[in-house]
Order: sequence, then C-alpha cells, then structure tokens
Amino acid sequence: MKKKINLFGMTRLELQNFFLNLGEKKFRAHQFMQAVYQNYCDNINDIFNFNKSLRKKLLVQSEIKIPKIISEYISIDGTIKWILKIYNQKIETIYIPEKNRATLCVSSQIGCALRCTFCATAMQGFNRNLDASEMIGQIWNAMKIANIKKNKLKKITNIVFMGMGEPLLNLKQLTSTINIILDHYAFKLSKRRVTISTAGISHVIQNLGSLLDVKLAISLHAPNDTIRNKIMPINQKYNIFSLLSAVKNYLTVSKANQGKISIEYVMLNKINDAVKHAYELVNCLKNIPCKVNLIPWNCIPRSKYQSSTQEQIEKFSQILKENKIITTIRKQRGDAINAACGQLSGTVINRMYKKKLHKIS
Ligand code: SF4
Repeated sequence: MKKKINLFGMTRLELQNFFLNLGEKKFRAHQFMQAVYQNYCDNINDIFNFNKSLRKKLLVQSEIKIPKIISEYISIDGTIKWILKIYNQKIETIYIPEKNRATLCVSSQIGCALRCTFCATAMQGFNRNLDASEMIGQIWNAMKIANIKKNKLKKITNIVFMGMGEPLLNLKQLTSTINIILDHYAFKLSKRRVTISTAGISHVIQNLGSLLDVKLAISLHAPNDTIRNKIMPINQKYNIFSLLSAVKNYLTVSKANQGKISIEYVMLNKINDAVKHAYELVNCLKNIPCKVNLIPWNCIPRSKYQSSTQEQIEKFSQILKENKIITTIRKQRGDAINAACGQLSGTVINRMYKKKLHKIS
C-alpha cells in the first residue's frame, strides 16, 4: 500500500502546492492550517470547512500524523516536562511558566553530536534529526494542553529551540518549523518571540539572515578558545572569533534581534567562573552588542562538574555590569524533574514528581 502523505508539518507553500496538484484552490491550504494549528483538529474527517468529497479524496492519500505525549512530569515550580514518543524513541519538551507568560523549550534532534562536556543530551550521542512534523508536534501538543487548561496554565507566548540537539544542524526542517510558527494561518507568533539557541555553527549563522529572522542565543560558555575547546569540542572547528564574526553579520540583517544578541554562559565551578574569566569575557564581547545570561549549571548524573557558588556567580555578574554589559542570572527552573537547561536526555531520574498522563482530548 502506498504510504500516506503527512500534511502535518507542511509549510503553507507546500500545502498550497499539494492542494493545487489535487485540483483544489490554494485557499484550502489556509483552511487546513487554521483547522489544525488554531483549532487543534487532528483528523481530516473533522475539518468541516472541507466538503465530504474533498475529505474523502484527502483520506485516500494523506493523513494528519502528530507525535503523541506519553508522559508528563510537573515540578513544584510549575515547570512541565512532556515526553513524546516518536517511533521507538523519546524526545522532551519543556513548558516554563513565568509571571504573565510561558516559554516552550523545543527539541530539534534526538540526541546531539556536539559532545559539550557539561550536557546530559551529549551523553546519549546523536541519533537523528527531527523533521518539521516532529518539532511542530511538540508545540501543537503543548499549545493544545495550555489552551484546554487555560485557567491553570499560562498561554505559551515564546518558543525557544533550546531542547535536545543543535538546531542549526537541522536547518531545512528548522526553517519549515519556524515558518509554521510565524504563519498567520498557524501559530502566528511574532519573530521576536522565537529564539534559536546554538552552540555556534559559524558558517550557518553567517548566512542565516537570508533564510530566517528570529532571535539568536549563542551558547558561548567560555571566555577564550582554550577553555571552550575543552568544554565544547565544536569550538575546535568554529572558534570564538569566527563565531562572533558570523553573529555580527547576522545582526546587521536581523530585525528580530533589535541589534542585540543573547550570550548564554553556564557557570562551572573552577572552570570558567574566575574573576579573570569575567574580564576576559568583557574583552571578548567588546564589539558585540549583546546581553549575557549567566546560567547556574544544573547537576547531571556521572558528571565531573559542579555549579559555581551563588557568590561567584554574583561577583562574575557584577564585573560584567560594571563594564556596561547587560547581565542577568537565570533562575533555576525544573531542576526537580531534570527539565532544566542541559539536563534533557530522554530520561527522568527523579520520579518523585511523576504524574499520570492527563487525558488531553
Ligand atoms: S549543550 Fe546543546 S549543543 Fe551542546 S551537546 Fe548539549 S544539546 Fe548539543
């Protein structure tokens, strides 16, 4: 039997071509997107804007196939980790509520090939890229739950590609996913509310502006190449100079970033957190319009690292601020369910907070 085409995760342009090939008008693509992404329809039979004969025609050759959530873990701080099953593998998506909004942290690959030494995802190695339907499926499921439970959950207003994997090594599928997130007929988020977090694939960043305009967060994590080579092996291919040059180039074309890039810096005790490292970082960033986010390292099993002390993090932050760099210290969220930054690995060690999967439809 011929494999059915999955319409879920197709961009507007792809859907328009699909419907045109079927002898239908382009606007069917818009109706499809509104039904699926705005009204959470997951069955062709339930798209009532389509007449019976169109639905019948679609069912013969196409389907709406969305990854399913198999577990939900809720932390005491309100952070939720959803585990989705994709064939026989698992990926993680994290919902992080703030005061008036919520951010969803999305995975772009199963595992990761970049081997950052402080990261739990790195420990499981690389399996494969996620396709657009699998990335958009994480968002669709989370948005649907937040919509159903709108009295309890904050609306998802921000999306960050900061989960498992390096998004810029999955560029084609990432671009399709972001097109759907921004599309007026789908999730219609502003480009200023979508962030790609990258370990720094310089040649991709260099040309990113011709494909996408969303916010960029650079996982720098070191003030010099010696330290970065050790904790982020990708630096041996794309060093700090090449990375920051590419970032500067992207800033000249990106409107979403409003002239400033985010720099992520994980605080590792006695590795990159000394006073001299803070001054080195100031020097390294002197020509880069940016804001720095200091991230207390979250404990992962079998790791040689420890997080810097609060005192050290504050001292580091103070030096950056004195040198006119906008600096924030990230609040630790989701630590109890291993949903914090760098802890995503497809497993949950602390089962104390496990909750049964709620029926969501
Ligand atoms: S920190 Fe990001 S880029 Fe580095 S190994 Fe982990 S998931 Fe990959």
